[in-house]
Amino acid sequence: MNAVPAGADLLDTFGRPLRSLRVSVTDRCNLRCHYCMPEDEYAWLPRETLLSFEEINRLVEIFAEFGVDKVRLTGGEPLLRRNLPTLISLLKRQTAIQDIALTTNGILLDEQAESLRDAGLDRITVSLDTLKPDRFRSLTKRDTFDRVLRGIAHVRTVGLTGLKIDTVAIKGFNDDELVELIEYGKCVEGEVRFIEYMDVGGANDWGMEKVLSQAEMLETFRQAYGSVEPIQENSSAPARRFRLPDGTTFGIIPSTTTPFCATCDRSRLTADGMWYLCLYARHGVDLREPLRMNDDASLRTRIRSGWQQRVDRGAEDRKALESSSERGQFIQIDELRQDPHLEMHARGG
Ligand code: SAM
Ligand code: SF4
Ligand code: SF4
Repeated sequence: MNAVPAGADLLDTFGRPLRSLRVSVTDRCNLRCHYCMPEDEYAWLPRETLLSFEEINRLVEIFAEFGVDKVRLTGGEPLLRRNLPTLISLLKRQTAIQDIALTTNGILLDEQAESLRDAGLDRITVSLDTLKPDRFRSLTKRDTFDRVLRGIAHVRTVGLTGLKIDTVAIKGFNDDELVELIEYGKCVEGEVRFIEYMDVGGANDWGMEKVLSQAEMLETFRQAYGSVEPIQENSSAPARRFRLPDGTTFGIIPSTTTPFCATCDRSRLTADGMWYLCLYARHGVDLREPLRMNDDASLRTRIRSGWQQRVDRGAEDRKALESSSERGQFIQIDELRQDPHLEMHARGG
């Protein structure tokens, strides 16, 4: 076997190990969030290129040989992929995988929470940016706010653990709801994490003036709650966590103003088997071809050399453009239309 021997880490050019794999199971979505999928129609990945559950499971097995022990299922909207719990059950049998998480918009959670729990899902994150139905409708172009809230409530009812609520914080959109969202998180027993608005993929009206920074968010919480204590953690997780005086914890993912590329151990697999080493990477590594040829040696070579040559620090590079005022749209819309892989919804958030 060609894998890295047990105990030895596969490291990239900055000495970062490979630990976490985000697997997009579909590029389709039942919402049209303005910051992610602002258009009605997209060039979708051809059906025959989509990996089967067995193929995804095989790839994860090989990634595990190189140190991956955490998998997050995402999309597009992962609950649109039929029989998703079957994939979770398959992954659950892999002893090297210690943590299986899911990021969803919550619309289909009401009907699927029980089977996700039964399949062994370890943690669930539901994205929710507002508690106001009319704002939800204008952000997502859909009228499914009540279904999302029902889905979130159902998580607790069925005893699924590890609930997080992810909120993209956007100036002029939901900056007046931060405290309300924390209070909502307390009610549903979920930890809220605020994500700074990122200039990824199709976020085509992104502008620095819309980014609500970590510093601004913390100031809002200090004013509302008195004190906000940072929690000291030795973790490569993207969220910085904080504690309020009543013990409530919350997170901020400051990708735009305070990138955390230095400790990034994450990479992404698209639903058609392209491997991206950074959220901002323009090119991916084709793993579908060797996978479908049953060429494990070539798969291992592509993964090993891909990671060993990894130089990506996408969010830091984007930030560096600010000093010359060049930070704007990441990829122009014409280019996005030609390659669906460049979209956030294709590579998973
Ligand atoms: N559809 C699922 C959902 O929305 O949870 C999973 C896929 S979605 C691409 C994953 C995460 O990316 C969501 O929490 C979403 O809010 C986040 N996201 C998408 N575009 C973003 C942007 N421009 N800036 C920050 N976060 C973004
Ligand atoms: Fe919204 Fe997630 Fe769908 Fe993107 S993939 S449009 S963030 S629900
Ligand atoms: Fe990792 Fe790229 Fe995100 Fe930086 S921008 S944290 S390197 S995925």
